[in-house]
Amino acid sequence: MSTSSEAPESWIASFCSLLGHEYFADVSEEFIEDDFNLTGLQSQVAMYKEALEMILDVEPEDDDDDDEEEDDDDLDDEDDGDGLTRRERKHARMASDLSLIESSAEMLYGLIHQRFICSRAGIQQMSEKYELGHFGVCPRTNCGQARTIPVGLSDIPGEDTVKLFCPSCLDVYVPPNSRFQTVDGAFFGRTFGALFLLTFPEYDLSRSGPEALHLGPAQCRLNEEERHHQLNGLYRKNIAPGLGRDKTYQPRIYGFRVSEIAKSGPRMQWLRDKPFNVMDLDEVKKWAAEHQDLDDDEHMGVNGMAVRRRQPGNARLRQQAQRKAHSGSPMNVETNGAESEL
Ligand SMILES: [Zn+2]
Repeated sequence: MSTSSEAPESWIASFCSLLGHEYFADVSEEFIEDDFNLTGLQSQVAMYKEALEMILDVEPEDDDDDDEEEDDDDLDDEDDGDGLTRRERKHARMASDLSLIESSAEMLYGLIHQRFICSRAGIQQMSEKYELGHFGVCPRTNCGQARTIPVGLSDIPGEDTVKLFCPSCLDVYVPPNSRFQTVDGAFFGRTFGALFLLTFPEYDLSRSGPEALHLGPAQCRLNEEERHHQLNGLYRKNIAPGLGRDKTYQPRIYGFRVSEIAKSGPRMQWLRDKPFNVMDLDEVKKWAAEHQDLDDDEHMGVNGMAVRRRQPGNARLRQQAQRKAHSGSPMNVETNGAESEL
């Protein structure tokens, strides 16, 4: 990013251009200025007001000094006994405050960032970075350098550093460069990764980073034909393309596969397993095939659960009519209010 020498760089731009901050999106000032987006952050960040002013490059107000030094003209070189003049002490305090505010501002920006990248503008910006491979590629060989997405394993700052989620093998990795190991995972949060894939289902997740750069963003989306094949609301080609048969490492000795019960044999390979025919994952269809013998009045509900269709009309009126038909004797009422044939 080039900046002209005359215009001073904004705090946000300089924060995002720091080494190790390559994954961050530029949070727009409009987003920060909307109080709704900052709900609850005041209690999480020390020196909130000053930190917010720093992020927005607002000049701090001078008149909020609440101590006894009301008249700056009196701040002359009186010695208070500790060898420091008042003015010197004030400057020292301001310098220490400044570094405190700076770290508060970084924390506040991170927490706002966690929310921003889940907003429409933020997720769009992150998608552009994804298209350009800014988040790196999966280190797992069988994923073929699939592009990754930065995620946090916790939404609370200070718990874990940022990780990279690979949608090809559905696993997370520590970023390869150590400079990312000082970036808090909460600044990306747990929501972004999955929301990103839901928002942009048409990305071809099996494309490698270098390939994506070479071909351009338009070529790295699923084509019409591929978008035809859906499974459980996902495009079939995008269901863990890095997993399954031939995509799992197979240890061998002189060309022979090592038995699973051998001491050095492969373990837990089922974790990387995927049905050979992904349509086996279509549980709704499977369930329907197994329950073909259901009564006519049982239908598939929204979750694939059987639901008994309610009879139209007022149930209480129907029950009263039934009771009348059975001369009001409770012995004649069928169990659970099931209706008798009239
Ligand atoms: Zn992977």
